[in-house]
Amino acid sequence: MKIDFNKNDDGLVPAIIQDALTKNVLMLGYMNEEAYTKTIQTKKVTFFSRSKQRLWTKGEESGNILHLEDINSDCDNDTLLILVTPEGPTCHTGSDTCWNEDNNQSFGFLSELERVIRDRKENQNDENSYVASLFRKGINKIAQKVGEEAVEVVIEAKDDNEELFLNESADLLFHYLILLQAKGYTLNDIVNVLKTRS
Ligand code: AMP
Ligand code: ZN
Ligand code: ZN
Ligand code: ZN
Repeated sequence: MKIDFNKNDDGLVPAIIQDALTKNVLMLGYMNEEAYTKTIQTKKVTFFSRSKQRLWTKGEESGNILHLEDINSDCDNDTLLILVTPEGPTCHTGSDTCWNEDNNQSFGFLSELERVIRDRKENQNDENSYVASLFRKGINKIAQKVGEEAVEVVIEAKDDNEELFLNESADLLFHYLILLQAKGYTLNDIVNVLKTRS
């Protein structure tokens, strides 16, 4: 990989540190060629610290090491994107990221939908909400809905009406998310179970 360490007079390139699994950005540091080489050799992310004016292996005091998974340089070879598996919180404040965020994995739109469903669970008296009405009816009714939608998916799987199959699949996933929430779980809990099986 070609990296242009001489673009800046100080020989430093910015290195964006991203969690390989959750894809969250954990921190930003700078590397010179020596730090870059050491990172690859040791598989532990090492920066050139501008305040310390020396090589700095993240976690050298705290033990909160960043294990190297992959390195990519950008379109014009002057910025690094480094994929890591973090050991412990990355920020010296004790936060998972330097932007004071939890390093939870996000499922994009499905996570947004989970948030809306949790909001309905917490405001069950909303008369205009179908989801709130399901929560009022209780877990057994919600579980039954999941069963019905699953049967509808099975029926549509036998045909090849694309629209019906996709719609019933969406119904199933939606009601399954409601059931998870009713039971007090999240998609993340399920993914963690799946991970232990892989
Ligand atoms: P560590 O590398 O985790 O052992 O931390 C050593 C020192 O580096 C800390 O006392 C901070 O001054 C600094 N430091 C640690 N983590 C970060 C970070 N994510 N961003 C900036 N400075 C940091
Ligand atoms: Zn660039
Ligand atoms: Zn920080
Ligand atoms: Zn349906």
